[in-house]
Amino acid sequence: MPVAETDANPRTPYQYPMPADALPEIVIPDALAEGDERMWVKQAENVYFRPLCLNRSQGYWMNLLKVTKSGVLSRHRHPNPVHGFVLKGRWHYLEHDWFAEEGSYVFEPPGETHTLVVPDDVDEMITFFQVNGAMVYCDPYGKQIGYEDVFTKIDMCRAHFENVGLGADYADRFIR
Ligand code: FE
Repeated sequence: MPVAETDANPRTPYQYPMPADALPEIVIPDALAEGDERMWVKQAENVYFRPLCLNRSQGYWMNLLKVTKSGVLSRHRHPNPVHGFVLKGRWHYLEHDWFAEEGSYVFEPPGETHTLVVPDDVDEMITFFQVNGAMVYCDPYGKQIGYEDVFTKIDMCRAHFENVGLGADYADRFIR
């Protein structure tokens, strides 16, 4: 039976506290607004990310990835799935013939190795990515040359926020 049929007061809020062990929610107003440049962590030349949720308890991270003109997100392999939603601009992978346009949803299955490039006619792209597990940076033949995971992301955020004067602890608000 649909729940609504048994609920005489559908607009009455839940009357009890959340579970004592539940983690606090994260709310980031205007996450896409570019008012405060300090929110964007530099990751490579013309590549920045804005942390939204750094989930160390489950090993994934949600972030806005920003790549400006002629930026390249280095070739990497995903052992776990990635979900992406393009909020602005356009990009493609050197390994595929499709383009991710503004408004596109992209699922990257485990096993993908790819190189993200923003074409020259796009000044800037921003994509919301949920990345699970790790990104394994590699050469064109799959030999590993580096990696990122939620812990390297947290370290980068702490260093960045310390650097821009917000303090390393500023990263804590994104960590669960
Ligand atoms: Fe990727």
